[in-house]
Amino acid sequence: MTKDIVVVGAGYAGISAAQTLAKKFKKDQDINITLIDKNSFHTYMTELHEVAGGRVESNAIKYDLQRIFKKYPKVKLVTDKVVSIDYDKKEVVAEHQTLSFDYLLLAMGGEANDFGTPGVKENGFTLWSIKAAERLHDHILESCQKAMDEHDTAKRRALLTFTVIGAGFTGIEMIGELVDWIPVLAKEFKLDEDEFSLKVVEAMPTILNMVTEKEQIKTRKYLEKKGVELILSDGVTSVDKDALNLSSGRVIPTYTSIWIAGVKANTDAADFEIEQARAGRLVANEYMEAKGKENVYVAGDLVYYEDPNKGGRPTPQIVQAAEQTGHTAAHNIIAAITGGEKHAFKGKYDGFMVSIGSKYTVAYVYDKFHVSGFVASAMKHFSNLLYFFGIRSFYNIGAYLRHEFFDIKHKRNMFGGMTSSKGNNLWMVVLRVYFGSMWLFEGIKKAFGLFGTDSWLGDKVVFPFPWLQAAEATSGASEAASETAGAAEGAAQAAHQVFSLNYTYGEEPMQVLKEMPDWFASIMKFMMSNQEVALFMQKMMTFMEIAIGLALIAGLFVWLVSALTVALVAMFSLSGMFFWVNMWFVPAAIALMSGAGRAFGLDYWVMPWVGKKLDRWIYGKPRHIYGLKK
Ligand SMILES: Cc1cc2nc3c(=O)[nH]c(=O)nc-3n(C[C@H](O)[C@H](O)[C@H](O)COP(=O)(O)OP(=O)(O)OC[C@H]3O[C@@H](n4cnc5c(N)ncnc54)[C@H](O)[C@@H]3O)c2cc1C
Repeated sequence: MTKDIVVVGAGYAGISAAQTLAKKFKKDQDINITLIDKNSFHTYMTELHEVAGGRVESNAIKYDLQRIFKKYPKVKLVTDKVVSIDYDKKEVVAEHQTLSFDYLLLAMGGEANDFGTPGVKENGFTLWSIKAAERLHDHILESCQKAMDEHDTAKRRALLTFTVIGAGFTGIEMIGELVDWIPVLAKEFKLDEDEFSLKVVEAMPTILNMVTEKEQIKTRKYLEKKGVELILSDGVTSVDKDALNLSSGRVIPTYTSIWIAGVKANTDAADFEIEQARAGRLVANEYMEAKGKENVYVAGDLVYYEDPNKGGRPTPQIVQAAEQTGHTAAHNIIAAITGGEKHAFKGKYDGFMVSIGSKYTVAYVYDKFHVSGFVASAMKHFSNLLYFFGIRSFYNIGAYLRHEFFDIKHKRNMFGGMTSSKGNNLWMVVLRVYFGSMWLFEGIKKAFGLFGTDSWLGDKVVFPFPWLQAAEATSGASEAASETAGAAEGAAQAAHQVFSLNYTYGEEPMQVLKEMPDWFASIMKFMMSNQEVALFMQKMMTFMEIAIGLALIAGLFVWLVSALTVALVAMFSLSGMFFWVNMWFVPAAIALMSGAGRAFGLDYWVMPWVGKKLDRWIYGKPRHIYGLKK
């Protein structure tokens, strides 16, 4: 009998669960898996502060679900907002459709918790969704724009005061982004950097309570050095449009109060008739089964489960817990369907890595390692990449590297912009045409046997490989040649016929390798075992060199062709057919791979066309709404 599994929420927990289910039921026609989310993309929540703080565009952290689920066609994607659950009819009710379920997993995440503090909703900013991050980003730009026109110094300073409430990892990551962004904003809006001010308000006497004192001290020092004011042991009583009021009686004039002091369960799930615990989280048992509901599971930030292995503390609202609870829920859905053994949840967390802007990170991992600075930043990027690797989303590994390293602006990455500084490809045109001409010239020389060399299109083997030359020498091809001239002499002669764009200037150029290494010789012997094959190969090589030359001059497939030339140079060198004087081919080819065909070259038109076609062919057309019948 057919069974319908519906997963609500394509966050870390929902994706982990849907992929686990899809792997298990890959070939099972009786199982339908639907993943429904209000967005057609997965929000990379852990980088929301980068959007809010102007480091990356918001598109950089929106990962299209169709791409993520390319390898899991079993999962049907639906874009819609779930509003209620009808347990009697076993239906998930969304704004535009109703989905039947036999097994339901709720993984709708969390939202900012303002604990009812007056004015937060009306006048404050939060950071728990892509929309919230975009709103905050736009507001900061708008404040700078207003400050630019503001003649009243006090008001201008208030416009340029940005206050984060909450010194947990999210709050510290947010203020870190602002530290990096202020100099950029000051320059762009022609404002005085000294008029900006950054503050963090925290009710506790310490910051970053999830890491050790070591990381806390380092973070404090770093932030204070950057001019951030840390206001500790002070709470917020209310948020006005133009001020933040603290329990101590202090009033901070500011138009930007960023509330990151707490997280609660997604309020969309508040009416799902499942028992709620602290901060509205839905209570589940160790199998992630919702309390009091059959075949309903909860995972991620939404679930409340007191983990006995962690001293009875509720599962933390972090990515690893989301993925692991998602996985446990999926496993137990599988067990329920197949009659297998249930798995109890067992949380295992590696620790925390807190990025404070793009160039500094503190980390405490595996309950013993304290890392900070460049290495910790590298670790954080690596763990982000590992996430995409884990969900088999190789496209997104490339996208992440592009957004974080190669396309980043204002030097806002751990390499200080070294990986993202861009030149004008126009300057590459000369190199491209010159490099192409070299290959074309070499190909033509080989084809016509110019400058006293033998034509590679004739019937004489020119490769200087001993086994071929020995055969040539003993085959009687040249009656006059002495039989005893032997292979060595033949090879020496032939060496002058090979890739010979060398400039002797009165001296013999130096070969990269005089003789082929044995391992390479055995490969070549296998590929070119006799003269017929060798003749075919040398003709092919001649045409290939002409084609490479023409492609480079025309700027067609320059990346591919340049990569091919590097491979050919390696092959020629190992064959004892290449000279050091031409080794510049390699750096030149690598330089041309940076898009040199797009400046006055055919790649300008061809590459976008090919990219689009390939993309559609592999992933299909990305859509803003999935699952709607046309
Ligand atoms: C700025 C920031 C930085 C963070 N940094 C870190 C970090 O460094 N390390 C770490 O471990 N954790 C970090 N976290 C916490 C981490 O992001 C969360 O724990 C994690 O996202 C929880 O995953 P989830 O799958 O439960 O929910 P989410 O990732 O929030 O996903 C919930 C999904 O449900 C969808 N949804 C919600 N309501 C509905 C509805 N009614 N109908 C349909 N779909 C719906 C949403 O669109 C979303 O896709 C950070 C969080 C923030 C905000």
